[in-house]
Amino acid sequence: MKTLGYAALTATSPLAPFAIERRALRANDVAMEILFCGVCHSDLHTSRNDWGWTRFPNVPGHEIVGRVTEVGAQVTRHKVGDTVAVGCLVDSCQHCDQCHAGEEQYCRNGRTDTYNSPDRITGENTLGGYSKHIVVREEFVLRLPEGLDPALAGPLLCAGITTYSPLRTWGVGPGSRVGVIGLGGLGHMAVKLASAMGAHVTVMSRSTDKEADALDLGADQLLVSSDPQAMAAAASGFDLIIDTVPVKHDLNPYLPLLDIDGTLVIVGQVGLMAETHTGSLILGRRSVAGSLIGGIAQTQEMLDFCARMDIHPECEMIRMDQIHDAFERMEKADVRYRFVIDMASLDASKA
Ligand code: NAP
Ligand code: ZN
Repeated sequence: MKTLGYAALTATSPLAPFAIERRALRANDVAMEILFCGVCHSDLHTSRNDWGWTRFPNVPGHEIVGRVTEVGAQVTRHKVGDTVAVGCLVDSCQHCDQCHAGEEQYCRNGRTDTYNSPDRITGENTLGGYSKHIVVREEFVLRLPEGLDPALAGPLLCAGITTYSPLRTWGVGPGSRVGVIGLGGLGHMAVKLASAMGAHVTVMSRSTDKEADALDLGADQLLVSSDPQAMAAAASGFDLIIDTVPVKHDLNPYLPLLDIDGTLVIVGQVGLMAETHTGSLILGRRSVAGSLIGGIAQTQEMLDFCARMDIHPECEMIRMDQIHDAFERMEKADVRYRFVIDMASLDASKA
């Protein structure tokens, strides 16, 4: 199927219209028209080859909401007309211990990302949700529960699950003391989700600019991370801190904020960090961990949780041709709190 997308052809070229040929449906495939796609900071990192592993052309987008247009002969989970969602994963081996445990993101034989991954069968580079249509293996297509607004749900598929997963892994519940470093796309979802789980939530932001927003989103307070006195006063006050900062930064000011046995989970920066003094870790049996998105079953659990608790991301709708400006603004942390592309703005007849 011919369709239209937006692609980066090189690390330095802005995204531009790009003709895409989606594969003919395999027996277990679902084809969908994409209605909305959220804009994740990973889209920007990958388009600019920040991590050094981008295969161009790159069509980003892994916060997809769409409507099913066709299903393969053996598909049982979805039918034409269903409103569905696709996140960061489109395939995995399905038979290793991690896949059996519902942790497809850690598939021993290599997960297949929605974009910038070799297809498991053809080896072709996967192309993501900045496009009018996509074809995805049925196990990786999620059901959008009633009660979630399709126009606003997209960011749950990455920002939502990436923060929900560590909150569940580290057992957050009523009374947990949770810190969130960086109030952007992931950060604002972490605040909403942790607060809905009953946690006491603190946003750690570089200034007070987002204080009113933080409280509106459900946080109990904002801690200014650039204020050493306020940081010192908050020492030993957290069970879990989720770090969403997208660039290299210094963990040393944050580690003393953890209580004994507390954990700081990095979900943002991939790569080198500033030198970390191990004293805070040793003296408080504190941990630094990482976490990658979440499995398919847990993503469905998160969508159902958000529908039940009426949790929607805060979205600024954009047209596809505004993506360059959106990237620029995201880089300046000038987004409150997720851009979502209305795919009706992309004219597929030009494909
Ligand atoms: P985002 O919307 O741009 O938010 C990042 C936030 O970090 C900003 O709003 C800002 O918050 C803070 N920040 C930005 N630049 C900073 C700097 N130079 N120093 C300190 N703080 C800074 O990004 P996002 O979409 O939430 O993504 C965050 C990171 O998570 C990205 O690196 C992305 O690739 C990664 N990610 C990881 C996974 C995973 O599975 N682990 C999944 C998705 C995304 P304040 O203004 O409040 O300080
Ligand atoms: Zn993402």
